[in-house]
Amino acid sequence: MPFTANRAFKRAPRLLVSAKDMHYVAADGHRVLDGTAGLWCVNAGHARESIVRAIAEQAATLDYAPGFQMGHPLAFELARRVAALTPDDLNRVFFTNSGSEAVDTALKIALAYWRARREPERLWFVGRQRGYHGVGFGGTSVGGIPANRRQFEGQLLPNVDHLPDTHDLAHNAFSRGQPAWGAHLADALQTLIASHGSRAIAAVIVEPMAGSTGVLVPPKGYLERLRDLCDQHGILLIFDEVITGFGRLGAPFAAQQFGVTPDMITMAKGITNAAVPMGAVAVRTRIHDAIVDAAPDGIELFHGYTYSGHPLACAAGLATLDLYEREGLFARSAELAPYWADAIHRLDDARHVIDVRNVGLVGAVELRPRDGKPGARAFDAFLDCLEHGVLVRVAGDNIALSPPLIVTTEQIDEIVEAVAQALRRIS
Ligand code: PLP
Repeated sequence: MPFTANRAFKRAPRLLVSAKDMHYVAADGHRVLDGTAGLWCVNAGHARESIVRAIAEQAATLDYAPGFQMGHPLAFELARRVAALTPDDLNRVFFTNSGSEAVDTALKIALAYWRARREPERLWFVGRQRGYHGVGFGGTSVGGIPANRRQFEGQLLPNVDHLPDTHDLAHNAFSRGQPAWGAHLADALQTLIASHGSRAIAAVIVEPMAGSTGVLVPPKGYLERLRDLCDQHGILLIFDEVITGFGRLGAPFAAQQFGVTPDMITMAKGITNAAVPMGAVAVRTRIHDAIVDAAPDGIELFHGYTYSGHPLACAAGLATLDLYEREGLFARSAELAPYWADAIHRLDDARHVIDVRNVGLVGAVELRPRDGKPGARAFDAFLDCLEHGVLVRVAGDNIALSPPLIVTTEQIDEIVEAVAQALRRIS
């Protein structure tokens, strides 16, 4: 099983059998309030009627169309709709089936772009410590979570460096929203530029808000500083918005929320409300045009997936974007954010807690680790919450929370109360 303690799971499986709106139903029949939107992906809540219908109708109309040298209209329509949500001129969209594939696609596009621009010596990628960019070789290489790399060291991509992460409890513990301290951490890029040479770096990739490592909110001014340095040295800036895309922070993308525009955005998860797997990369028009214009006749980018732009995913994506719009869910996320912040910071004084962080409709509660057993306390909190009917997520010693954007204030209270109770019960 993916990212699962298989042996322990076999001994005590945790199975979900159905879902509707804000709730799952577990195999033993008990209802579970979804405090995590599945895996940060079911932004509009579960089994929404219009999405279910769109998928069913599409399966009966055009179940599959080859995407190599062929196409189908829904893929172009969805690309247009995605482009309408992205900032500035990030208007060219390449479809994948997952966030991992979106990341590896973006990295390959960066290399193809620099070749097209006749700067093939730009080979370096810069990621960030504690970053998560999926599980492809590219994403694992630019990722910075040690446990995710350890089993594969020795065969990850060469020419990759990492910026320091932005987490610092001494300066920023219990920050509300963006922490005040840490913009200068972006200056580590300057050091890398100095050591590799100014024309050696192809792209910098960061999650604007690091999610999987336990919700690290960018310090004020940090993303701006990265953008400035990339601009000064012609480096492409990629925001991995697999979690932050589609309203999670209040705007369509974190780029708009933080007012910093990258050159590419990777996305997945919320693009189809997770009903059918899909990912995408949105790139600036000039990146697309440079690659296409520089190519001789024929295929311009030797890359793609059998299921790129799969008709069911496109139908789900279009129905999802319609639903977000009809119900104003991105605005709802922004409106709920202050309530969410107040609610989650009620845990500031709870037992075991050493930090509480929030931004948009995301939060994390960091626990003091048990001696010699990192992550064990948070895992016990997860089990306790689940037993008491609330799904939370564990990320190391953090409890991460990211409910669907349809969550009510009562349900926010229920999620926070479940965590509070769990922290009282666990050792
Ligand atoms: N990038 C980020 C920022 C993610 O959070 C994730 C998954 O959580 C991925 C990439 C990988 O996406 P997937 O699991 O769909 O491959």
